Amino acid sequence: MVDYQGSCHCGTVKFEFSTAEIKEGLRCNCSICRRKGAVMLPQALSSEQLKIDDIGSDALRSYKFGTEVAEHFFCEKCGIYTFHETKREPGKFRVNLGCVEGIDVFELEIKVFDGASL
Ligand SMILES: [Zn+2]
Repeated sequence: MVDYQGSCHCGTVKFEFSTAEIKEGLRCNCSICRRKGAVMLPQALSSEQLKIDDIGSDALRSYKFGTEVAEHFFCEKCGIYTFHETKREPGKFRVNLGCVEGIDVFELEIKVFDGASL
């Protein structure tokens, strides 16, 4: 397991998690992911695994649409998407790897999930 730290662009929202070493990224072609264009952590994290800084959590806003199962979180100051609660695994979270320190999303092997067909 490796400890990772992440933040939004302005640094208000901070979070950390432990997971297996990140070697792959995930993109998705659903209506919201294709607009965000973010590279995500392939594995979903439990709410115990994803630790969100207290001050930062006050700055989080979220967006839901359609079935309203998935919840897409972003910073109210800088607008950056940091993580979302997944539709496929409610109660679990997938993080935006562009927010994670030490990860170069352009170096990761990218898989594409066909969320548009769900
Ligand atoms: Zn921010």
